[in-house]
Amino acid sequence: MKINRNFDNLVPNYLFADVARKTNEFAAAHPEKEIIRLGIGDVTLPLAPIVVAAMKKGCEDLLHKETFKGYPEYEGYDFVREAIAGYYGSFGVTVHADEIFVSDGAKSDCGNLPDIFAQDNTVLVTDPVYPVYVDANLMAGRNIIYAPSCKENNFLAMPDENVKADIIYLCSPNNPTGAAYSADQLAVWVDYALKNDAILLYDAAYEAFIEDGSPRSIFAVDGARQCAIELCSLSKTAGFTGTRCGYTVIPKELKRDGHSLHELWYRRQATKFNGVSWPVQCAAAEVFGREGLQQIRENLEYYKQNAKIISDALDELGIYYTGGKNSPYIWMECPGGMGSWEFFDYLLQNAAVVGTPGEGFGKSGKGFFRLTSFNSREKTLEAVGRIKNLLK
Ligand code: PLP
Repeated sequence: MKINRNFDNLVPNYLFADVARKTNEFAAAHPEKEIIRLGIGDVTLPLAPIVVAAMKKGCEDLLHKETFKGYPEYEGYDFVREAIAGYYGSFGVTVHADEIFVSDGAKSDCGNLPDIFAQDNTVLVTDPVYPVYVDANLMAGRNIIYAPSCKENNFLAMPDENVKADIIYLCSPNNPTGAAYSADQLAVWVDYALKNDAILLYDAAYEAFIEDGSPRSIFAVDGARQCAIELCSLSKTAGFTGTRCGYTVIPKELKRDGHSLHELWYRRQATKFNGVSWPVQCAAAEVFGREGLQQIRENLEYYKQNAKIISDALDELGIYYTGGKNSPYIWMECPGGMGSWEFFDYLLQNAAVVGTPGEGFGKSGKGFFRLTSFNSREKTLEAVGRIKNLLK
């Protein structure tokens, strides 16, 4: 018996384990200091009341023979897909309900979508990168190439026409950099994909944070229906990180190698996925109702205000960063030419503030640092005060 030796190619990523270890050591050595975590990658505010009410009603349905539900449809219930299509319509993008697959989240879909593509395709990711894109494809034995995002391109890597890629992951607004592509930049990527017969896997997990008119969907760009699949998530949009729900959009007309990618993905999901539970789908549909959207907006505004507090402070300090708007993430240059881990230690030791070293997200993250807006207002203000005192 042989194991999948592609696992040998995974680079051990101890980023969050190392952050936790160093933080715990500091806490043990300095019990008197209050540590503030600006590295949190999870939401902290509760679900919207109307969403929880729908989930409770969904549970109630399971209690009665007349309303009980068993296996859901692989692609999600129609009313949920209609609600998602309506949401797209609210920002001017046409997506048909029957092109939407409801899932248990964008992480699974990012990792599983390549199942429908051959192993010898080349995968391109922008660097720094959400690690799932890399690790899932390494496990499958694919070759990965990197397009560096850096200060020179404002952490928005653009295609190189001399490089040939088949599967391209784009994440906008980006984790970890918070940078969001403009419509013109996305049009260049769409053009590249069309010319190279490539597929864009467009991760829009943070689209709900967009505030400056940048596209909220790749399907806002002409030609994207011929070359893109979009993944999205209710995790950061509506606090579903623990509840689990996301969706993937595959245009019906999207074909490669003579095959409909929509049909291939349906076949893949029908084989390996048994759908999202009834109470969660009831809750998800409610997110996109009029009142649901209003209620989730309050939480989004709270995080966005925290992000503004952090980015305003960096403006005052004259520190270069991306994100802070359109995103819960702030990607800052480490001051004084410090390395990512050097700055991590400096901030922890001198301000008892924890962030995430940028180089943990890839080579191009060297010398950068990620802060997040998911802590409370009070703690964010306190941390920012300490950072300003330290770096002024
Ligand atoms: N995509 C990106 C870029 C993310 O940052 C995350 C979560 O942090 C996900 C996907 C995962 O989303 P989900 O919770 O829906 O699996």
